[in-house]
Amino acid sequence: MDNRRPLIAGNWKMFKTCSEAVETAKHLVKLVSTSVDVDVMIAPPFTALAQVSDVVKGTCISLGAQNLYWEAQGAYTGEISPSMLISAGCRYVIIGHSERRQYFGETDESVNKKVKSSVNNTLIPVMCVGESEKERELNETFSVLDKQVKNGLEGFSHDDLKTLVIAYEPVWAIGTGKTATTDQAQEVHKFLRTTIETIFGNMLAKSMRILYGGSVKPNNIDELMSMPDVDGALVGGASLDPETFSKIVQFQSQT
Ligand code: PEP
Repeated sequence: MDNRRPLIAGNWKMFKTCSEAVETAKHLVKLVSTSVDVDVMIAPPFTALAQVSDVVKGTCISLGAQNLYWEAQGAYTGEISPSMLISAGCRYVIIGHSERRQYFGETDESVNKKVKSSVNNTLIPVMCVGESEKERELNETFSVLDKQVKNGLEGFSHDDLKTLVIAYEPVWAIGTGKTATTDQAQEVHKFLRTTIETIFGNMLAKSMRILYGGSVKPNNIDELMSMPDVDGALVGGASLDPETFSKIVQFQSQT
């Protein structure tokens, strides 16, 4: 894995009220407090960020947001700026999740602006890319991913992207119970790393963490993490339950 520190991230999507989020975070802190070799991130809904931040402060768990808007402030009703996320305790932000692309008009261009805004504000972007089932069937997986990566990262320098995390999430595997095989995941992760190498050079390609997302569970994480280019996971459904998520975080001890 070239000394890349694994990252296991939980995307809570539009689940959990403030009190439910706080209870989940407290339970998780108890379960993963000894996971020193892995970075852990949880992304609750915006409304629970500040309270969950108090719970995870000083632990190995970092806080992430599920989205942001690129402007610093202004008349943008319903949007949240990078400095607001930082003031709520966030270190990471998920950008371009397929659900945002599918339901909320997110495009490669808006993803690009959001990645730019997050790195300018020292938030770590987790940029999501992935092909649909139809695109895979039509053998378009690599061309779709190539376009998403190149457009999403257009105009950046190597230095801008030192913290960037890419999450490969095949749309057909999100919330469906279908997981890419470890060989499919490795093939795409290697392709993504090579694409980064071609644009930004070998150093960034070697240090960049590429996560796999799509129905990750305790029973498939070990095999996925055994792949040389899989550096962690972005977990949806299985991150909502602390016991299940902690088993994914502790993947190394299961092997
Ligand atoms: C996700 O929401 O990013 C995701 C991968 O969901 P799930 O783990 O439920 O497939």
